[in-house]
Amino acid sequence: MKSIIKLTLSTVFIFSASIAIAQKTTGSKVPEVSPMPMKPEMTEIWNPEVKVITPGKKEGEAPSDAIILFDGKNLDQWVSQRDKTKAPAWKIINNDYFEVVPGKGGIETKLAFGDCQLHIEWSAPDSVVNDGQNRGNSGIFFQNRYELQVLDSYKNRTYRNGQAASIYKDHAPLVNAMRSPDEWNTYDIIYTAPRFKPNGELDAPARITVLHNGVLVQNNVTINGLTNYIGLHTYTTAHGEDVISLQDHGCKTQFRNIWIRRL
Ligand code: MG
Repeated sequence: MKSIIKLTLSTVFIFSASIAIAQKTTGSKVPEVSPMPMKPEMTEIWNPEVKVITPGKKEGEAPSDAIILFDGKNLDQWVSQRDKTKAPAWKIINNDYFEVVPGKGGIETKLAFGDCQLHIEWSAPDSVVNDGQNRGNSGIFFQNRYELQVLDSYKNRTYRNGQAASIYKDHAPLVNAMRSPDEWNTYDIIYTAPRFKPNGELDAPARITVLHNGVLVQNNVTINGLTNYIGLHTYTTAHGEDVISLQDHGCKTQFRNIWIRRL
């Protein structure tokens, strides 16, 4: 059978070559075989239908597929980092926002997350105390490891990769879009978790995009590893989904309207 195929192929080749030579010598034209004409529907994909959700009515409102992490009522989605069996000791105020109680330790979500879209609103304490890293400092730690800085960076210089909207000691924000301490700030974040190989080595680092008050400040940047206060950031241990935590840095930073979507 193989030899028949070979024979047929060589016959076709010889035949084609003869035509080509004939064309060259006589200048005659062989009619071109035109490709099948494309139609609009040939590049349309219909199934499966894209999932329908209901977006928030106003800017910053949670869409229907979000998990509400805080809506002013309670901190039921959170636990104290000091004792994970206990509710956070932070203060809810006016059924609207909660405030860090300095010295009580950070808080973390009960649920673990990987890739996600997070909306969170925050404000530095109204009365300005201290400066640099001690003014309204807190932080949002993705997978309990990688910090998006929260800091009162309104007329408050500090190192550029440690100001509000920095990936702490990793990436400075593109601009300082900070509002004054008596206003609320928003972060809208797209976070891609790091990937690890089965042997535990890093396969792909985490990535993050951040909008601060609607302004792009981190454009799909690579997170270079675990947030360290001292030393370079690296990935030391493979991990899966993990909690999101908020830092107690000794300042009365406030948070409200927190929702998340798994991606
Ligand atoms: Mg911080």
